[in-house]
Amino acid sequence: MKGDGEVGREPVSQPAAEPVGRPGGPVVLRTKAELAAARPGLTAPVVLVPTMGALHAGHRALLRAARGSAGPGPSGPFTGSVIVSIFVNPLQFRPSEDLDRYPRTLEADLAMCAEEGVRAVFAPSAAEMYPGGRPEVTVDPGPMGQVFEGEFRPGFFGGVLTVVLKLLHLTRPDSVVFGEKDAQQLALVRRMVSNLDLDIAVESVPTVRDADGLATSSRNRYLSEADRALALALPRALRAGQARAAAEDAGSAGGAGATAVLAAVREVLSAEPRLAVDYVAVVDRRTFAVAGPGQAGPALIVAAATAGGTRLIDNAPVVLAP
Ligand code: AMP
Repeated sequence: MKGDGEVGREPVSQPAAEPVGRPGGPVVLRTKAELAAARPGLTAPVVLVPTMGALHAGHRALLRAARGSAGPGPSGPFTGSVIVSIFVNPLQFRPSEDLDRYPRTLEADLAMCAEEGVRAVFAPSAAEMYPGGRPEVTVDPGPMGQVFEGEFRPGFFGGVLTVVLKLLHLTRPDSVVFGEKDAQQLALVRRMVSNLDLDIAVESVPTVRDADGLATSSRNRYLSEADRALALALPRALRAGQARAAAEDAGSAGGAGATAVLAAVREVLSAEPRLAVDYVAVVDRRTFAVAGPGQAGPALIVAAATAGGTRLIDNAPVVLAP
């Protein structure tokens, strides 16, 4: 069993001189049949990176981590295969959400995949993935799928886990890579892999941020300059929470528990009333149970907010003091 343990890894940096990929870039597979035909030619270990496209620096970190997993080591040859899926999954969008205007930039995405040595890109249409329309049998994400993102986006995690399970079956990878940016999604994928006995390792990659602190996201391109300035309150608030947990802001030893950390986060957010906050909480990163007073150890500050019509989610790890 490869297990679904924590394999958080730093993005693997890639020497510029190293040859990447195949000369023509990745093979682009549009149908399940094309994928099935190409799959035997993908050398093991096969590492899947599921995305919705519009690739940015966060995705690039995932591609590099995948490449690190697919290769045997820094000095050996790159023997395994990275496969990227690019699919804007209608199942995880509600009618009021941005399915139609979600950015689609396939040519640029393929260029990034070529730069990062990706062997194959699976980019099916919605009709190819769901030939009968909405599937009758879907994955139930359970209670962890009903809170936070699941509360504000009903049906979201059922849609996510259903497409992830389909992609895992279709690509049959040895491991799959997700970003810590979508922490609840990561926790739910780990739970699904464990609960459904999928023999696939789940790797995670730390959140990539722009220089101003905003986590990179395909949806950031929707932000005007003013919206972006507003959005920056989110990472700023998370940093305030981290500083309170580490007792850096108080300048004293001892750190802080969940209540004080949350107060520090809220203080920053309340200074920006135009940022519409959906939720902010300190949770257990595996279960998403809210951290109670007196709970010590590693936890996650999670938050979601809307800046000028664009919804953002972010999170930051903390170690709570008793
Ligand atoms: P998406 O294309 O938004 O569905 O994201 C595909 C994968 O990229 C998911 O595993 C995300 O968690 C990950 N991802 C998106 N943004 C970032 C980021 N800023 N840092 C790290 N991973 C990210």
